[in-house]
Amino acid sequence: MVRDKMKAVCLLAEQEIEIREVNVPSPGTGEVLVKVRAAITCGTDVKIYRRGHPKFPPPFVFGHEFAGDIVAVGDGVKGFEPGMRVTANVFAECGECFYCQRGQGNLCENLDYNFGSYAEYNLIPASIVKKNLFIIPDHLSYAEAAIVEPLVCVVHAANLVSVQPGEQVIVIGAGGPLSLLFIQLARLAGASSIIAVGHSDFRLSIAQQLGADIIINSKNVDAEPLIANLTKGRGADVVIECAGSSDAWEFAVSQVRKGGRVLWFGGLPGGTEVRLDAAKVHYGEITLYNAHGGTTEDAHKAFELISSGQLDVRTLITHEMPLEEIEQALQKMISGDAVKVAIIPE
Ligand SMILES: [Zn+2]
Ligand SMILES: [Zn+2]
Repeated sequence: MVRDKMKAVCLLAEQEIEIREVNVPSPGTGEVLVKVRAAITCGTDVKIYRRGHPKFPPPFVFGHEFAGDIVAVGDGVKGFEPGMRVTANVFAECGECFYCQRGQGNLCENLDYNFGSYAEYNLIPASIVKKNLFIIPDHLSYAEAAIVEPLVCVVHAANLVSVQPGEQVIVIGAGGPLSLLFIQLARLAGASSIIAVGHSDFRLSIAQQLGADIIINSKNVDAEPLIANLTKGRGADVVIECAGSSDAWEFAVSQVRKGGRVLWFGGLPGGTEVRLDAAKVHYGEITLYNAHGGTTEDAHKAFELISSGQLDVRTLITHEMPLEEIEQALQKMISGDAVKVAIIPE
């Protein structure tokens, strides 16, 4: 039975949250209503909590990595019915704009979003139902399946930088959820060694557990001479930046070898300037990649990676908390004491 009212986490202003009773939406044409069983925290949630979301004015029900049970479907929905366990990507491309027609759906001008999973029910828009709603196999938990959303962006980015067998890889900002996915994908691609640089001992220990060969806590030690030693003074073949600071962007370029590749993955606010040694980049033939979001194709690849068990996503879920403790959960993310928290409504 679907209830009329549900609890939902509403962001009212920067760092101001209230759990409110709101109406449970009913699915329109093509839409699907899901009872949320697990919604997991993400760095984007922390950003939204701190600064709000430019596209969604308050009160904004946020949360976007989730899985649950279908409880109702709108007219015209095919392939999905009540009782199915599902997860979904947070966005879907339109398929028709300039970018979509060029296979760059991640840059789509009309992306549809699905926020609102920090609530008891989540209504999935028709476009996402059509393209990016996935039926969860029995062996996966709800929280594990929900990792599909962050993995979409990682799959997209990993495909650009394309780690080759035998390459040495540095991951900066290591221990954060996305870095842990990059580390596992680099391992799968056959990287010869992975150096994880981060700030939290707790998170770095998980990086090590998931495949990093060497972990460096750059809060306590100077990473540069250690890396120079590990890369014979040349720098690494590939440097993946997941820290999201201009310092980390610059550091990434300083640690790559001639002919190497850098991936700037952690987005920075508009107007941020980054300093580069032009000679190093030019004469060293360094390739600089940027990646943002992912396409429907990336989403399907990501779900396949999780369902086939090629990636350990369970280890990323370090805590479980009720909906009422959402703020404590976000604080744990901020302090680095959690990788991801599964929020379990009721
Ligand atoms: Zn996310
Ligand atoms: Zn489009």
